[in-house]
Amino acid sequence: MRSNDDVRHVVILGGGSAGWLTAALLAREHDAGEPGGLAVTLIESPNTPPIGVGEGTWPSMRDTLRRIGLSETALVRQCDASFKQGSLFQGWLRGADASQGDRYRHPFSLPLGFGDVDLVAGWLQRHGDRPFAEVVSAQPHVCAAGHAPKQASTPEYAAVANYGYHFDAGKFGMLLREHAVANLHVRHIADDVDQVLSHEDGDIAALRTRAHGDIAGDLFIDCSGMASLLIGRHFSIATHSCKPQIFNDTALALQVPYATPDAPIACETIATAQTAGWTWDIGLPTRRGVGLVYSSAHLSHDQAEQQLVAQIRKTGGPHDPGTPRRIAFEPGYRERFWHRNCVAVGLSAGFVEPLEASALALVELSAAMISDELPATRAEMALVERRFNDAFTYRWERVVDFLKLHYALSRRDDSDYWRAHRERASLPDRLAELLTLWRHRAPYRHDLFRVEEVFPAASYQYVLHGMGFVPEPTARLRHARVGEAAEPYFRETAHLARRMLGALPLQRSLIAHIHAHGLPRG
Ligand SMILES: Cc1cc2nc3c(=O)[nH]c(=O)nc-3n(C[C@H](O)[C@H](O)[C@H](O)COP(=O)(O)OP(=O)(O)OC[C@H]3O[C@@H](n4cnc5c(N)ncnc54)[C@H](O)[C@@H]3O)c2cc1C
Repeated sequence: MRSNDDVRHVVILGGGSAGWLTAALLAREHDAGEPGGLAVTLIESPNTPPIGVGEGTWPSMRDTLRRIGLSETALVRQCDASFKQGSLFQGWLRGADASQGDRYRHPFSLPLGFGDVDLVAGWLQRHGDRPFAEVVSAQPHVCAAGHAPKQASTPEYAAVANYGYHFDAGKFGMLLREHAVANLHVRHIADDVDQVLSHEDGDIAALRTRAHGDIAGDLFIDCSGMASLLIGRHFSIATHSCKPQIFNDTALALQVPYATPDAPIACETIATAQTAGWTWDIGLPTRRGVGLVYSSAHLSHDQAEQQLVAQIRKTGGPHDPGTPRRIAFEPGYRERFWHRNCVAVGLSAGFVEPLEASALALVELSAAMISDELPATRAEMALVERRFNDAFTYRWERVVDFLKLHYALSRRDDSDYWRAHRERASLPDRLAELLTLWRHRAPYRHDLFRVEEVFPAASYQYVLHGMGFVPEPTARLRHARVGEAAEPYFRETAHLARRMLGALPLQRSLIAHIHAHGLPRG
């Protein structure tokens, strides 16, 4: 490509959630189908299905879906979707049962008064015998009681309590495809890409397909999943391994029925720690998605399968839930995501286990940055490339820090896996620094100073204090005035929790209502 060439045609390789979300956003925001608008083509192999896992999202998905003009009612009806309000962690502190108090919540809503007063000092001084999240947020009470985050009269994408989704990943991909092709003018080619054709300068010129010839473009987006055909195989951009920090490299996944069709639908992803990993449990309206993520260096495949089956039986699932699907992955991310006229989004860019479900959020952030900063010409692309690589290297580092926090603070002593997670050598340096600072004060927003941080400081507080981390009592933390300032917020939180419990329907009732009547358009 020459430097003054306009960027007019974007070609996306891959039709999983990453490919369709990116295609839809670019098409919608750059007038695909209009004279002078961007042309967006997505090539997807009919022989390699999308990965089909990835059932938990962040609240950011509401903005993304609104941005692409998709109806929330359609999402709930067609993707077997339910509302996710955060995560519930069981057995992470000491390996005890949740009924013995080994549990804490990471809700999506920010605490009331966060950033205005020192909630941690207030909690420590007067309420330290109660779980942190339950004192500072109404949402744990809503989740524990199984209530939805909105009412039937709340418009699409609006919230009473902050929420994302749990959904069927396969159905989500199909809905995105239908919307992108029918409403947003994305050209869809169902074919295999066999070869990458290059310009003399090394830019990608076209992708050679088996039956549709060469598909030329100006910018190529690699959404080819773990195959990483463009950024990995073609450009040989290496992967930065996160295995020294985050050991998990294998997942087993199953879908199981509810014991009865009207069983409550969990409002959170339930993450239960096991001897060398953790199980997820995701409640959809018609079934649960369950799985085990573990380190193959610490647990054999047979042991892993036994642990998953035991967890399913313990939680009311079938005695014989069938054979799980096994997915192996190398935890890590690319050393560069954007290279020349190619940018990787989704699993081709990286993957570091599903704890806290950050993968689709990174897809959303990537698609948004490509759309917001879409270079007008090839000459500008080098600048955007640098900015993109800088932003996403930072974001992946923060994901690793935040995931590691869950492991590093655990006091479990039942396996080498948990003991190794506490070794200093396995701690990312920045997290080690922050943990030192947090010995004497709570995390606050200037610990995380970028505009769109993947995890806000409030999330660090929820996990830190949920995991039983108690700062050493400095004079400031002990000062009565500092603690007192938080009291009005705690009272307001308790009041809000009572009001929400009185006003919000149960999750299953709201979903039944949406199937029957839909939500008001926003
Ligand atoms: C066990 C597990 C649990 C997860 N849980 C979560 C979660 O709860 N929340 C979350 O946010 N994320 C989760 N993820 C991550 C999530 O699944 C992915 O980020 C998401 O599905 C995006 O995948 P993708 O589109 O990048 O890749 P894929 O879905 O693998 O799609 C790849 C696409 O590339 C195409 N392709 C490949 N080769 C060719 C070729 N030669 N020619 C043409 N097309 C080709 C395929 O046909 C396919 O369409 C999880 C991942 C795993 C492994």
